Amino acid sequence: MCKAINNTTGQEGLISRSNMREREAIRVDSCLSLMPWFHGKISGPEAVKKLKPREDGLFLVRESIRHPGDYVLCVSYAGDVMHYRVIYQDSKLTIDNSQFFYNLIDMIEFYSENKGAIATILHKPKEKEGVRSAELELSKMGWLFDMNKLVLGKSIGEGEFGEVFEGDYMGQRVAVKNIKCDVTAQAFLSETAVMTKLQHKNLVRLLGVILHNGLYIITELMAKGNLVNYLRTRGRCNISTDQLMRFALDVCEGMEYLESKKLVHRDLAARNVLVSEDTVAKVSDFGLTKGDSKGLDQAKLPVKWTAPEVLRKEKFSPRSDVWSYGIFLWETFSFGRQPYPKMSLKEVREQVVQGYRMEAPEECPPALYQLMRSCWQDEPGKRPSFHKIRDRVQKEMDRHEPPSQ
Ligand code: ADP
Repeated sequence: MCKAINNTTGQEGLISRSNMREREAIRVDSCLSLMPWFHGKISGPEAVKKLKPREDGLFLVRESIRHPGDYVLCVSYAGDVMHYRVIYQDSKLTIDNSQFFYNLIDMIEFYSENKGAIATILHKPKEKEGVRSAELELSKMGWLFDMNKLVLGKSIGEGEFGEVFEGDYMGQRVAVKNIKCDVTAQAFLSETAVMTKLQHKNLVRLLGVILHNGLYIITELMAKGNLVNYLRTRGRCNISTDQLMRFALDVCEGMEYLESKKLVHRDLAARNVLVSEDTVAKVSDFGLTKGDSKGLDQAKLPVKWTAPEVLRKEKFSPRSDVWSYGIFLWETFSFGRQPYPKMSLKEVREQVVQGYRMEAPEECPPALYQLMRSCWQDEPGKRPSFHKIRDRVQKEMDRHEPPSQ
């Protein structure tokens, strides 16, 4: 049976849970591209060879060999191939010095609908060999949403890569993140592909994506914002220890699910936990989520949340997420304080590797601090799994608030 998602009006949502379950996950690999028509550095004659059969409007984009940094739009027209040089100036792209674009995706979108200064409207991309079109794949699997059905509302947050807006998609309240830069949008595509595989009550749910102005990522709206702000603005007087434990359990359950899928989040922190209208905490920001344990750019590591073995050898594992979970617990029980207060990143790096650990937050239940300390064991194998952590948090909750008979 079709179970409706709650929305503001109380009507049945158009994006039903059962519909979403039927959608297939997108395969996560580097072949999925927002720009399947982009062929990189190939010469003019090579482009001519590729644009076959010579149908009007068959096109590709290549990097100019003669003018490094510029691109060339190659379009088949009247049995011939036209080459339009795309000039990069003042951070914008243009063919005719009258239409300007922030990126190639916007430019192709424009010339697919308007002839402008070129011989014909772009009809069909000539895809690069070995590349799959993200648009086709997302649409086939049911994840591609329609821009015309989205109503954008007010801004509700600022991320590293763009603003987040509240919105309405066919009667359902949603959150919308727009990534304008084509390179970043391509990188975020793997985040969204990961999200299509994940469905759990404690993970922020991806609803769909729109390919327009780069990429729009549409997720469920988490009306009470991120957990750090939630804790800081309400504080000790308004949030009970029971509520903090419920947050701890929520996040643990989301992480236990990731652990069961052999996925490593790599950026678990209270700022990446969002709170729903009914005060359920959910893990978000799967940007770095990966199945493998390969390292990352050390300069980009969230040092205060990163396990010592990762700081030392760049080796991620589900147990390095457990370390971050310990830091998340510390943030939660200190009502959103910055971890290692007053210590610089350099000091944290040096001292944590040598065994330094934070003290218990003020008035933190001793069992929770013990749990933090077990998450911060130097030896990853000695840290508990999320499965074990869930048992411990649950027991502590039952002790605090015995289950009603
Ligand atoms: P990041 O830079 O970590 O990627 P995001 O772009 O994911 O940050 O989010 C920035 C802020 O926007 C969050 O801290 C939160 O306050 C808000 N936000 C993000 N996603 C949602 C959502 N689904 N519902 C409500 N608020 C959100």
